[in-house]
Amino acid sequence: MGKITLNKVNKTFGSTEVIPGIDLEIEDGEFVVFVGPSGCGKSTLLRLIAGLEDVTSGTIVIDGTDVTDAAPARRGLAMVFQSYALYPHMTVRQNIAFPLKMAKAEKSVIDAKVNEAARVLNLTDYMERRPGQLSGGQRQRVAIGRAIVREPEAFLFDEPLSNLDAALRGTMRLEISELHNQLGTTMIYVTHDQIEAMTMADKIVVLNRGNIEQVGTPLELYRTPRNLFVAGFIGSPR
Ligand code: ADP
Ligand code: MG
Repeated sequence: MGKITLNKVNKTFGSTEVIPGIDLEIEDGEFVVFVGPSGCGKSTLLRLIAGLEDVTSGTIVIDGTDVTDAAPARRGLAMVFQSYALYPHMTVRQNIAFPLKMAKAEKSVIDAKVNEAARVLNLTDYMERRPGQLSGGQRQRVAIGRAIVREPEAFLFDEPLSNLDAALRGTMRLEISELHNQLGTTMIYVTHDQIEAMTMADKIVVLNRGNIEQVGTPLELYRTPRNLFVAGFIGSPR
């Protein structure tokens, strides 16, 4: 299960209120995209959900459990970053297996889960290579593989494709959508790219200076943007 609820979540750095107070419900299995201009608080919101930042006030509930004060590892989430964060000296297989090794899983379990992740991500032929011998898209798939083996309740992606060229971004968009179809796991995907938001999301959350301007399906936002900010950002005709 991967239902995530934010209640009046506020984040203030020093005297700067970055997230003034957000209420949001993410249903189990949903593909939710946080979209908005650079600096609007997308990464901060994702890091609050992941537990990489502490909320200033408000609560975060995952599957009925208040995790507001829980350590990141206790939240059952897996985060995928734009900068891959792979270990250069390890092979693809070792990189993907790493979280399971840390959790002291049995070798047979590790092998089975790593091989399954490799199959889903089309990495089977690259397992003994090191990250330096891979393309950008392959590296991003390894980073996703490392998240998959943990079998998280939800995947959190922070602009995972922004280091890739336009053609590869298109391919990876489809691959991540396909992965969501296969796994059925909740995914929260942060981007400043309207095309990614419109093509990948079940539900889009439009952020502006830490506030939610509108939540809706891509079609709802396109047809009935609540204001000019949403209309301008989504590129709809209003
Ligand atoms: P986005 O991911 O949408 O580009 P961020 O969440 O990274 O935006 O940042 C939102 C705002 O919060 C920015 O103004 C940024 O400067 C500020 N911010 C982010 N992290 C910190 C921090 N650790 N200390 C102070 N300000 C921060
Ligand atoms: Mg960001």
